[in-house]
Amino acid sequence: MKKLTKKDKLNLLRWFRVLVQIVFFVFLPAVFSQSFAAIKSIAETVGNGEVIKNNSFIVSFIVVSIITILCGRIFCGWACSFGAFGDWVFQVSQFIQKKLKIKFPKISDKAISYLKLLKYIVLITIIVLCFCGKASLVAENSPWTVFSLVRVGQYKFAVYATSTILMCIVIVGMAIKERFFCQFLCPLGAVFAILPVLPFISLKRNKDNCIPKCNACKNNCPVKIKLQDNSLTDGECISCMRCRMICPKGNIKN
Ligand code: SF4
Ligand code: SF4
Repeated sequence: MKKLTKKDKLNLLRWFRVLVQIVFFVFLPAVFSQSFAAIKSIAETVGNGEVIKNNSFIVSFIVVSIITILCGRIFCGWACSFGAFGDWVFQVSQFIQKKLKIKFPKISDKAISYLKLLKYIVLITIIVLCFCGKASLVAENSPWTVFSLVRVGQYKFAVYATSTILMCIVIVGMAIKERFFCQFLCPLGAVFAILPVLPFISLKRNKDNCIPKCNACKNNCPVKIKLQDNSLTDGECISCMRCRMICPKGNIKN
């Protein structure tokens, strides 16, 4: 049997990931919104001075958090419906840019490193609003509310005009920068970025074996992880495995 080339393996991984994302998008689309609802519900309950009770939102959040602690952000890279939606918007945008022979503006690495901090501000703002009893404000003005309602066919523009405008801005961002929402705005992403701390889930790179000035791993990373060090423990990594597959020398391993 013909041995698979690097390119074949990369294509196989790409299609396998798309398949997994479609399965989760179709059959388990609510895990993202349920986990997000758990953060709001905990902040709201504490703000009301009540005792936190177990519910399906909290169970969903705990399960995804445990998976993230033990295995890294595979939920983000492979299972989140909003993350998958962002990937597809970016791929369509790449296709259109190629066909029209145009290029959207690039965001510099320095700007990306600052923009990544925005999601913590979003998370803190949401927690404070919910704590102060303004959870409805969050729901009425969230782009992910539009996303969830469109999916279940209950969307009404008149009620969700602001969140629709925000969703349109997010889609433009997703078209310009891969994983735009995940890196810069997702409140769950902010929580998940601080969870993967266990050493055995970090990617390791044999830097000495690298082709000089190659940088294929960094250039192909959807979230532009800095690969200066051998050990790649980084909460921003969404475990897409692209760097492992793309390295011409097979230098990156768990
Ligand atoms: S960062 Fe947020 S939107 Fe992106 S994949 Fe993770 S949970 Fe989903
Ligand atoms: S390319 Fe590598 S470092 Fe970047 S997100 Fe994917 S697995 Fe993580």
